[in-house]
Amino acid sequence: MANYTGPVCRLCRREGSKLYLKGERCVSKKCSIDRRNYPPGQNGQRRIKVKEYGLQLREKQKVRRIYGVLEKQFRSYFYIADRAKGVTGENLLNLLETRLDNVTYRFGFAPSRSMARQLVRHNHVSVNGRKVNIPSFRVRQGDVIQVRERSRKAENIISSLEARADNQIPEWLSLDRGDMKGIVKSAPTREMIQYPIQEQLIVELYSK
Ligand code: SF4
Repeated sequence: MANYTGPVCRLCRREGSKLYLKGERCVSKKCSIDRRNYPPGQNGQRRIKVKEYGLQLREKQKVRRIYGVLEKQFRSYFYIADRAKGVTGENLLNLLETRLDNVTYRFGFAPSRSMARQLVRHNHVSVNGRKVNIPSFRVRQGDVIQVRERSRKAENIISSLEARADNQIPEWLSLDRGDMKGIVKSAPTREMIQYPIQEQLIVELYSK
């Protein structure tokens, strides 16, 4: 996450669901949300009635945290999504999914989005054969995303790729493990983004 440097498991507990921010730990028994599924803080276990605005706000925060995007950037994504043709909520998810750091994570080159973001920033990834170090770079249909040759022996990338099962790669992407290369087959549709996200709540929040 861009500026947040505190404990990330706390973010999952705040949202009450797994946001998969820590790679392997998220699928192990050490996951905090499996052990303490209540909001952090002194009053975390108190029952609080959440109103409509609270639900909308929490949904927006959840999605923002999943993709590691700051508020200002998230809002600008919303405006782009709102102006584009089609359903605003779906457009918004599409914009987030096609970020280069997300796609790098989706291919399994890194175990979490924050680590994928670091890979991109540190020049380990190329798009269509050219070095790109902008995590928010938007990939398009037909783009080829590859780990750069000098980085293909990096232990962390190899182990992350090995841990990623084929059925975890979304159907809009195609991975060539040998060459550490992935292709964007199509734009992601809503059905292909299998997160329990209620994007309509975010649209309602920003439309007030
Ligand atoms: Fe969230 Fe992963 Fe921490 Fe579990 S281990 S609480 S999914 S960041």
